[in-house]
Amino acid sequence: YVELKNINKSFGDYKASDNVSFSIEKGKLIGLLGPSGSGKTTILRILAGLEKQDSGDVYINGELVNNQPSSKREIGFVFQNYGLFPYMTVYDNIAYGLKVQKKNKDFIKTRVTELLNLVGLPGLDGRYPSQLSGGQKQRIAFARALAPNPQLLLLDEPFAAIDAKVRQELRSWLREMISKIGITSIFVTHDQEEAIEVADEIVITNLGRIEQMGSPVEIYKNPQTAFVARFIG
Ligand code: ATP
Repeated sequence: YVELKNINKSFGDYKASDNVSFSIEKGKLIGLLGPSGSGKTTILRILAGLEKQDSGDVYINGELVNNQPSSKREIGFVFQNYGLFPYMTVYDNIAYGLKVQKKNKDFIKTRVTELLNLVGLPGLDGRYPSQLSGGQKQRIAFARALAPNPQLLLLDEPFAAIDAKVRQELRSWLREMISKIGITSIFVTHDQEEAIEVADEIVITNLGRIEQMGSPVEIYKNPQTAFVARFIG
């Protein structure tokens, strides 16, 4: 369970978050949808503790985490550009967070194997990121983010760098993975179709504000502002 309450954040004169409030039920996949510059990434960064809000509260599993550093928030990240360590094998990439947690070798080996099976890429542990396709890289990035068993998964435009056909496959794959694992997740996208197809609920952002939040069907059938109507089409 995650909640943002009255979050404000300005960069100079620009309000990147203007009184943003929403909450997410455990295990749900939320799509943060909005045009470029609408404040989506800022919300993710505030949730992750990488950016400090000017005012407002962030709760993760009922706990107020305003003053908790990023490293303590138990959050997994998947980025647009994969963010894999190029000089490490797939195995070491996935093991990275587990080594930070000082897990023992046997535990790490079992967990990495389990995650490679989960993402459908068993046996690729010895490869380097440069030897993987874009889709494979993103599945490995997903496995790496999940390895330390985070409470919350944040995905920032996870499919933007991937070609259209594979992107389509990855969308349904992500949907399936999240339901299977039951991890609370937020993904950022500027693609209306993607949000409608993948998310349980969509939060629509514009100029730092939330225009509407609801299920894809609700938003599609009943847009509450002119902006949403135009943006959803
Ligand atoms: P995009 O899809 O282009 O990434 P976004 O919806 O994720 O857009 P944000 O990245 O959250 O939007 O940015 C919102 C606004 O805040 C933008 O106008 C951006 O220029 C500004 N901004 C974000 N981070 C900073 C920063 N560290 N310093 C100054 N301005 C910033």
